[in-house]
Amino acid sequence: AKDEGGGQHCTYEPSLHAHAEERRQLEFSMRRALERGEFALHYQPVVDAASEQVVSFEALLRWNSAEHGFVSPAKFIPLAEDTRLIVPIGEWVLRTACIEACNWPSHVKVAVNVSGEQLLDPYFAEVVVSALAQSGLAPHRLEIEVTESVFVRDGTAAQSTLERIMSLGCGVALDDFGTGYSSLGYLRKMRFSTIKVDRSFVQGAAVNNAESLAIVRAVVAMADSLEMSTTAEGVETEKELETIRRLGCKKVQGFFFGRPMAAKDALALFNQVAIR
Ligand code: C2E
Ligand code: CA
Ligand code: CA
Ligand code: CA
Repeated sequence: AKDEGGGQHCTYEPSLHAHAEERRQLEFSMRRALERGEFALHYQPVVDAASEQVVSFEALLRWNSAEHGFVSPAKFIPLAEDTRLIVPIGEWVLRTACIEACNWPSHVKVAVNVSGEQLLDPYFAEVVVSALAQSGLAPHRLEIEVTESVFVRDGTAAQSTLERIMSLGCGVALDDFGTGYSSLGYLRKMRFSTIKVDRSFVQGAAVNNAESLAIVRAVVAMADSLEMSTTAEGVETEKELETIRRLGCKKVQGFFFGRPMAAKDALALFNQVAIR
């Protein structure tokens, strides 16, 4: 630093600038990523907690950039949301996931993550209709995953779009449940197919954290009585699996059963007898 006394000024400004510059370069590359074919979907199995059979795959976006190499979704998804590039990218995700899911056995569903920017775009429901029609995927095999944040931003608009999608026969899952800030009011109005219990609660419950245990129990009881399914996210160990089973979660997802994998590897899973 040039000025030892003005530490704050010297230390933070260049790093802020570097951060902004990095974002600018990522955005520049992201604007070309679709046409360059740099995106791919990986699929993570979701299994029935009792039978351990694969019931669905969650589609997770991967970006291998010519300039930046593999970029983490934790980094590029927020940027895609800020720049609204998530709208065309998300449309590609939806269309690709529907096409690839058509290769799987017909009882296996596909879950697609949808950001608030996409859901609140006026054409979103029509993109879903079109993705289903073009691929030929049965609507009940598609589940849209949204987080509570979409209800905070514009609850009425989010609800009406989700209702339109449910009227097509698609499921809607509430993702990362328990990590958001919203009230439970929307649970009274919306028939979610699945509530996904965030990994932080799964981890906590498995080490006997009293709060985590109480929260998972309450979420499962609530989901059961509202006739919604539950998925425990991020199950990594046998201990976590046993805990989550005992607490009554219906479905399980996590590295213990499988990491997100390329489409061809997901397809190959169906030629195995058991997943583990
Ligand atoms: P998410 O929807 O909560 O997805 C689950 C994330 O947890 C994935 O990270 C997955 O790889 C990771 N995960 C799964 N099992 C385990 C486990 O056992 N342990 C641990 N530690 N992690 C596990 P990923 O693929 O990096 O995605 C991060 C987030 O990026 C997603 O969180 C989602 O919010 C967003 N995202 C990914 N793909 C898309 C997409 O196509 N569209 C949108 N809008 N968002 C996406
Ligand atoms: Ca998700
Ligand atoms: Ca999640
Ligand atoms: Ca998330």
